[in-house]
Amino acid sequence: MTSFKNPTNDNSYFDAVLVGAGIMSGTLALLISEVLPDLKILIIEKLNAPGTESTGAFNNAGTGHAANCELNYTPLDKKGNIQIDKALSINRSFEKSMSLWASLYEAGKIDIKKFLKFIPHISFVSGRDNISFLKKRFQKMSENSEFIDMEFSTSFDEISSWAPLITKDRNPLTEIAATRIGRGTDINFEALTKEYLSLVSLNKNVEIRYKTELVDLKKIDKKRWELEISSEGGKTSIRTGYVFIGAGGKTINYLQKSQIPEAKNYGGFPVSGKWLICEEKDLTETHNSKVYGKADIGSPPMSVPHLDTRWIDGKKLLLFGPFAGFTTKFLKQSSYFDLFSSIKTNNIFSMLDVGFKNNDLINYLISQSLKDHNSRVENLKKMMPSANPANWYLKNAGQRVQIIKKTDFGGSLKFGTEIVNSSDGSLSALLGASPGASTAVSIMVEVLEKSVLFLNDKSNLQKKIYDLIHPELSASNNDSNSIKDIKIRNNSILGFHP
Ligand SMILES: Cc1cc2nc3c(=O)[nH]c(=O)nc-3n(C[C@H](O)[C@H](O)[C@H](O)COP(=O)(O)OP(=O)(O)OC[C@H]3O[C@@H](n4cnc5c(N)ncnc54)[C@H](O)[C@@H]3O)c2cc1C
Repeated sequence: MTSFKNPTNDNSYFDAVLVGAGIMSGTLALLISEVLPDLKILIIEKLNAPGTESTGAFNNAGTGHAANCELNYTPLDKKGNIQIDKALSINRSFEKSMSLWASLYEAGKIDIKKFLKFIPHISFVSGRDNISFLKKRFQKMSENSEFIDMEFSTSFDEISSWAPLITKDRNPLTEIAATRIGRGTDINFEALTKEYLSLVSLNKNVEIRYKTELVDLKKIDKKRWELEISSEGGKTSIRTGYVFIGAGGKTINYLQKSQIPEAKNYGGFPVSGKWLICEEKDLTETHNSKVYGKADIGSPPMSVPHLDTRWIDGKKLLLFGPFAGFTTKFLKQSSYFDLFSSIKTNNIFSMLDVGFKNNDLINYLISQSLKDHNSRVENLKKMMPSANPANWYLKNAGQRVQIIKKTDFGGSLKFGTEIVNSSDGSLSALLGASPGASTAVSIMVEVLEKSVLFLNDKSNLQKKIYDLIHPELSASNNDSNSIKDIKIRNNSILGFHP
């Protein structure tokens, strides 16, 4: 037990309070409960179930982002060279998630069949320049153990055998190319969050309160925060030594309420999403992959079109999108005032600056908002020429709140994920959306390592985390394990047969 733990018997005191029950808080709760099981943890969630905002199965694309197929993770530098550092780092982060799932599954603690399916990840392009880009990307990536199994093809017949809906009704004389990695995944992050929370509920020191909302928070002395929370029983206050704000898009609002100096650098820009969904059995049975295309020139990275096989609630579906839109809400179930209430004197200039500098994004959002069903299906036809509008319906996706950060050069719009920590480690908050849920394990390990919970016993607790994620590997040769060995171990436990 750490000396961080509060020695009093105060029922309204918790060693840690996690706000929100999405994949991020779920992962953090799991890690704390496994390595610091004596800590008294409270998770509060304003809705009546876990994982129903961005983590909800239909609210995200369910891609286990390993950078196998997402072309926006391998940008060109100013000299026109393909940069693969980000892809390597995302691949390793995702493998850390796979390692944790493998360990928990092997120990009989979670059921991977409820949330994980293996499915090939394909990148697909047409046109000479794009084909040349894809080929160079393939050459560079496949030199690394992370992507050694990547295949490249310009053969119409071969691509047709990988993804028949991509070539059906396409002129066979068109120049096309694709890469494929057989070991991709479709993940139901909502089901995964439920698995984590069922597991942590077995720990008598963990309490989860649904329909309970954080209203306000303030630091009351050097070591403690006071949180005002509201539930059906009315408003009450609780105290804690550590707060994690995992409120998804709304995190920015609570980070500002905390008044930590680090919060002053941030603002948020909301982007809503929509999918086309198809349930026609002959089509869902024909398409067995996630196929990512290339975003149109000038459009933002989150607009990369993809045609995905999904499994949700035991049903196989096809999903195409995302189509973007503008809203002032930061979550699907929140207020239209979210954006306005996040504008403060210390971020208004960065926010305006981002508005002026990102005309492309604004134009893109306007054009996306004006689309009707047929024009969305026209977009789909670029990937699946045989698409029939009658087979597809529209469904709202989750909200993304992109980070606006104050820099020396004005406001900067960021498409990644960012952890904000208070300097004393008593509060952490997670901003941003991508690569998001897939890399939650790496992100939450980083959150824990910087938190006050790890303050007194850091190296021992880091070892416990390592043992939790890679039990057999850490027993033999610790950090020198190659990604190749880790993948072999995970494949054998998770049942992937190359
Ligand atoms: C369109 C789209 C596609 C995506 N595709 C992918 C993908 O393919 N792969 C991938 O890895 N990631 C993807 N992501 C990103 C991923 O969905 C997110 O990174 C992830 O779900 C964020 O989890 P979270 O726990 O931070 O937030 P959320 O899941 O939004 O959870 C936040 C929770 O906090 C609760 N809450 C909010 N305010 C309060 C309060 N005051 N008190 C109590 N509770 C509160 C909310 O009700 C909610 O349950 C996608 C996101 C979007 C929007």
